[in-house]
Amino acid sequence: ENQPTRTLCREDGRLSRMTQVHDLAVLGGGPAGYATALRAAQLGLDVALVEERELGGTCLHRGCVPTKAWLQAAKTRTTVAKADRLGIGAILTGVDAAKVRGFADSLVSGLHRGLTGLIRSRGIRVVPERGRLVVDAEGPALDVDGELLRARNVVLATGSAPVTLGLPTDGERILTSEHALRLERLPGRAVILGGGVIGVEFASLWRDLGVDVVLVEARPHLLPNEDPDLVAVLERRLRARGVDLRLGAKAEGIVRDGDQVRLELPDETVTADVALIAVGRRPVTDGLGLEDAGVALTPTGHVSVTRELATTAAGVFAVGDLVAGSQLAHRGYAHGIFLAEHLTHLAGGRPIRPRPPEDRDIPRITYSSPQLASVGLTREQAAATGGCEISDFDLRGNARALMLTPGDRDAGLVRVVRRPDGPIVGVHAIGDDIAELIAEGTLMVGWQATPDDVKELIHPHPSLSEALAEANLALAGSALHMHT
Ligand code: FAD
Repeated sequence: ENQPTRTLCREDGRLSRMTQVHDLAVLGGGPAGYATALRAAQLGLDVALVEERELGGTCLHRGCVPTKAWLQAAKTRTTVAKADRLGIGAILTGVDAAKVRGFADSLVSGLHRGLTGLIRSRGIRVVPERGRLVVDAEGPALDVDGELLRARNVVLATGSAPVTLGLPTDGERILTSEHALRLERLPGRAVILGGGVIGVEFASLWRDLGVDVVLVEARPHLLPNEDPDLVAVLERRLRARGVDLRLGAKAEGIVRDGDQVRLELPDETVTADVALIAVGRRPVTDGLGLEDAGVALTPTGHVSVTRELATTAAGVFAVGDLVAGSQLAHRGYAHGIFLAEHLTHLAGGRPIRPRPPEDRDIPRITYSSPQLASVGLTREQAAATGGCEISDFDLRGNARALMLTPGDRDAGLVRVVRRPDGPIVGVHAIGDDIAELIAEGTLMVGWQATPDDVKELIHPHPSLSEALAEANLALAGSALHMHT
């Protein structure tokens, strides 16, 4: 715990620590919780942050950051493998998984140090304990190891944990993503259960590091929330690299058999050295005292909230993965920033009334190879809710994309979706290194720009961003590098 936040100056000249009512107490120090705490402290609130593990949560220690470090290592290997196509001689030797893990760990620990320093510098009281919600006649509080931490408002930010479907995960042969990130030796052959973002990212990176991968998904396609035309490109590119995709295949069980695992499918048994269970994540609500405190849950087990993130208990709010919707770190940041500003506004400390973040405006990225990124409505969603017009730019017409994917016929595409004669409501992209482009898509969708509004913005050449500009120009009726 860092410094107590207030000290009482007594008449006799001595000092004693006050039992203090904080303005805000946050339970959970992942992206959603720490963003709430940072913004609230910046706005002058007195904040306590209770975190039982490490500040930074799933994202920093077991999610976003380490997976992207592994994906970057995998990408480096495939880049070297293709070097000859660009006239560069290179000899590939093995993969030192322990060293890749060390690379990921060093990134994580540097970022963790920076985050801890930042939180300390804002004067936030960090309590490194397990906490639990209490609501009594005096209002909300967090029970931390028998001590009550009182606050005018309490924010729940306990995040999510892997769903295992009751399968016998043991961290050695039957793994969750948390175990998979701690491996010091790569398996020769892996079966991955689940074709969502986490399953696809591991399939891509393990394959690129030389692992034989079988990916089993019960639904007919990978990434069910993404545009099917882009998912088709992803599936082709993964299959072309040798990922064995079993789509529409429902697993009936997994057992460990010595040094092997056996995954039972209706018509066959798949054997591998490890199985990764990547079938989703559930909100962490157990043991938090929510029922006694009057905090209602949704049928999916998430904390039920209003648009302003208020729970059913007065003075108690929830943010991040605890709230139903896409499980993304930047959604947690957006929740936290909004909530801190909203509470300050309610307390009269800020005249501007903030707007709650909308899931529709939140960009999504699958960092596989190729990357798939999107924001807003897919073509199908837009068609079903008022109609749409779309424009696709094939990345084979983009010089930069061709340099990044020498020899690949499926370079990818950028798709813009607009309402008929109306604003842009969706941007979707698939291709190598394409993910950064979605920031511009987010501006277009968030500002409800029309293609005419943005057609005069100039994009640098040669860059991937030109693909988005071209798709827009086509919708504005003035395509330059497209046959119309
Ligand atoms: P969490 O990050 O889960 O943090 C919750 C915190 O609460 C934890 O630190 C936990 O220790 C603490 N806590 C829980 N209970 C208590 C208690 N009783 N007392 C005290 N502390 C408690 N998102 C992206 O945007 N981009 C990505 O690239 C990405 N990649 C991912 C890859 C993987 C493999 C995984 C698993 C997730 C990934 N995510 C990604 C999702 C992202 O990690 C989550 O959306 C994000 O971490 C959610 O933030 P949160 O603050 O709601 O919860």
